[in-house]
Amino acid sequence: MRLGSFELEIVSDGTIALDGGAMFGVVPRPLWERKLAADAQHRVRIGLNCLLIRTPGDNILVDTGIGAKWDERSRSRYGIAHETTLLDELARHHLGAEAINVVINTHLHFDHAGTNTTERAGRVVPTFPRARYVVQRGEFEHACQPNERDRASYVEADFAPVFEAGQMELIEGDAEVVPGVSVIKVSGHNRDLQCVKVESEGETAFVFADLIPTTAHLPAAWVMGYDLYPVETVEQKKRLVPQAVSEGWLCHFYHDPQTPLARLGERDGKIIFERPEEA
Ligand SMILES: [Zn+2]
Repeated sequence: MRLGSFELEIVSDGTIALDGGAMFGVVPRPLWERKLAADAQHRVRIGLNCLLIRTPGDNILVDTGIGAKWDERSRSRYGIAHETTLLDELARHHLGAEAINVVINTHLHFDHAGTNTTERAGRVVPTFPRARYVVQRGEFEHACQPNERDRASYVEADFAPVFEAGQMELIEGDAEVVPGVSVIKVSGHNRDLQCVKVESEGETAFVFADLIPTTAHLPAAWVMGYDLYPVETVEQKKRLVPQAVSEGWLCHFYHDPQTPLARLGERDGKIIFERPEEA
């Protein structure tokens, strides 16, 4: 859909299934189950809604899904379904991997950086040969030395080959990536998550990434159990959600299985959302 002179498209990498309790933290199951139904293994099916931003000069990809470098056991553990893939979706827009010139990784968890790289003739190489990959320096350093709590969230093959190929651009804090597209560092989910703000001709879109993974996570206290700094997540949501409402931002929810893009409003003190007409 259009945003000023830009074009925004959801380019999905399919869905995965994660533990419902982990997705909703301290929220009791009877409450979250009304939003997302659980399967027999207590998992909820969530989206991998990568975002393509087309400006007059650039094709920018925000996050790259879970990718294809998985064995059968992991595919089953994470419920990797690949109803579609990121590369198929790009092809649907007549874009090959070489047409992407910027990749923004909101962070390097395996469900956001999976198609960063591809296995080719026994080697793992960057999927997007002409892209610079924009990553927070703190996130890259942490991904190289994760702790016991979040070790399972990183796969070295998603980022090490990009760094070795000289395609990784490490930045610190907020920065403009191309005119109209900026990254904003927001702690909470982890120390160095970056959200993405897109501005064109007076219109604004905002990628919340794992700060607000689905529309079900809009209430301040609905925070994922995965978050390393949940109180900071609450603070950031209390700051950003009212701004999204009052300024009419087009909001992007990476993991929402139904509503990847929405506009927010307020009714009786509650945040409500509606899908944009064109989406
Ligand atoms: Zn995620």
